[in-house]
Amino acid sequence: MTFENFALSPVLLRGVADHGYTIPTPIQQDAIPLALAGRDLIASAQTGTGKTAAFLLPALERLQVQKPARRSAPRVLVLTPTRELAIQILAEGKIYGRHARVAQGAIVGGMSYGPQLNLLGQRIDLLIATPGRLIDHLERQSVRLDEVELLVLDEADRMLDMGFIHAVKRIVGKCPKVRQTLMFTATWDDRLAKLAKEMLVDPVRVQVAATEQNTPAITQGVYLADDNDHKHRLLRHVLAGAGGQSLVFAGTKRKVKRLAERLEREGLSAGQLHGDMAQNARNRTLDALRRKEIDVLVATDVAGRGIDVPDLALVVNVELPHVPEDYVHRIGRTGRAGAAGRAVSIVSIDDRPLLAAIEKFTKTEIERVVVSGLEPTVVDHPAMRHAAPARQNRQPQQKRQQQGRHQQGRSHGGGQPSRSHGGGQQGRSQAPVQTPRQPAPAQHAERAPAPVALDEHRPAFLMRKTAAR
Ligand code: AMP
Repeated sequence: MTFENFALSPVLLRGVADHGYTIPTPIQQDAIPLALAGRDLIASAQTGTGKTAAFLLPALERLQVQKPARRSAPRVLVLTPTRELAIQILAEGKIYGRHARVAQGAIVGGMSYGPQLNLLGQRIDLLIATPGRLIDHLERQSVRLDEVELLVLDEADRMLDMGFIHAVKRIVGKCPKVRQTLMFTATWDDRLAKLAKEMLVDPVRVQVAATEQNTPAITQGVYLADDNDHKHRLLRHVLAGAGGQSLVFAGTKRKVKRLAERLEREGLSAGQLHGDMAQNARNRTLDALRRKEIDVLVATDVAGRGIDVPDLALVVNVELPHVPEDYVHRIGRTGRAGAAGRAVSIVSIDDRPLLAAIEKFTKTEIERVVVSGLEPTVVDHPAMRHAAPARQNRQPQQKRQQQGRHQQGRSHGGGQPSRSHGGGQQGRSQAPVQTPRQPAPAQHAERAPAPVALDEHRPAFLMRKTAAR
C-alpha cells in the first residue's frame, strides 16, 4: 500500500513525497481512510508510530477541498499537551501542506501573546494549541471555536495526566456539537473511556498491531545502584557505551539542571530541557540536539514528551517516573521510525515500588544488568529477586567466589555480573544483605539484555488490531 491509495489531493501527496514517505505506517493505513470518511476515531497509538500524519493528512484534505476559514475561527483544532509537540505538529503540517493553500499556526504557553494575537487576527484554517494557552485566548476573546469542524485530541491520556481535563472540557464545550472528533492516546483507562463517551459519536476504534514495521526493537535493562554516587558512575558507564546521542530523564527541574551541569563539568557535551526554561531556550536546546552539537540531553517528563529526535541511541532513567505510563513514553523516545533503541533505568532501593508499578503496568519483568566493577552491594535488593546467575557458564574461580559469598550469608548471586530473566517470586520478602563490592572477572563484563519489541511492554489492548468496531 502507498499513500496514493488514499483519497488525498495531489497537492497533499506531493507534500508527503517531500517528506520522503511512500508507505503509510499501520496507524496511517487504518486511520486515514476512516478519518477521510468523516468517522470519529479512537486511535491507540503512541509517539513514533506516525500518528501525527494520521490526523494531519485527513485534516489538511478537509481544508483543501472546502471553504476557507474566517479570521480567528479555525476549522480544524488540534489540542496537544506540550509546546514541543505543538511545534512539531506544526512543522509536519507545514511540510504536508506546503503545496496546499492552508493557513496553519500554533498557540502555546511560554511564548509572548503579540505574535499569537496577530496569527489569530488573520485567517487560520488549522490551529494547533496547548489547552492552557487556548483557554487564555478564549477568555480574551481572541479566538472563536464555533466553526471547528474537526477536533483532534492528540495524546489525550497525557493531557489528562497533566491535569488538563477541565481545560479540555471547556474547550470542547466551545466547539460545535456537530463535528468530527479524533482521539489519539497511547494508553487507555476509565477516565479516557468517560471522556470518549462524552466527546465522540459512534467512534471507530483503531489499534496498532504489533508488527515489525511499527515496533522498533527497544532493548531494556535495569541497573541496580546502592546510592546516588553509584548511580552516577553507572550513568557515566552507560553514556560512554551509548553509541549515539542520549536522553537522560530526571525527576525534577532542579535535578535536571544539576545533572546537566555536572556532566558538562565532567567533560560531556550536555544540554537540559525542563519546564522552567523559556520556549526560545528550549528550542535552542532541541536545535542543538538535532544538529548533534550536544551528546546528552537531560530532561524532565514534561519537556521530554514532545521531542522528535530520530536517531536517539539511548534513553536513561536516572529516576523512574511516578506514573508508569510515562515509562512507556520515555523509552519511546528511542527506537523511533524503525531504528533500534536502548532504554536503561538506574534504580536504587528507594525506586523499588516505582519499578514494580512499571513492571506491573507493562506486564513484563525488565532484565537486570550488572556491570563488572560496578556491582550493587545490596545483593538481595528486591529488584534482584529474579537474578539467576548463568551457573553452567561459570569458571571454577567464579564458582569459588560465589561459594565464598554464600558462606557470608548471601542467597542470590547478585554481585556477579549476571542478568535476570524474570520468573518466580522467591526472595521477595528477604531482608537486604550487604556484602562488600568486588570487581568481577573481566570475562563477565556487562551483558546486554536481549532486544524486546516495545509492544510487548504495552498494555494488552495495544497489541490487538481491531480496525472495525
Ligand atoms: P509520530 O508518531 O507522528 O511522532 O511520528 C514518528 C516519526 O515517524 C516522525 O519522525 C515522522 O516524521 C515519521 N513518519 C511518519 N509517517 C511516516 C511514514 N509513513 N514512513 C516513515 N516515517 C514516518
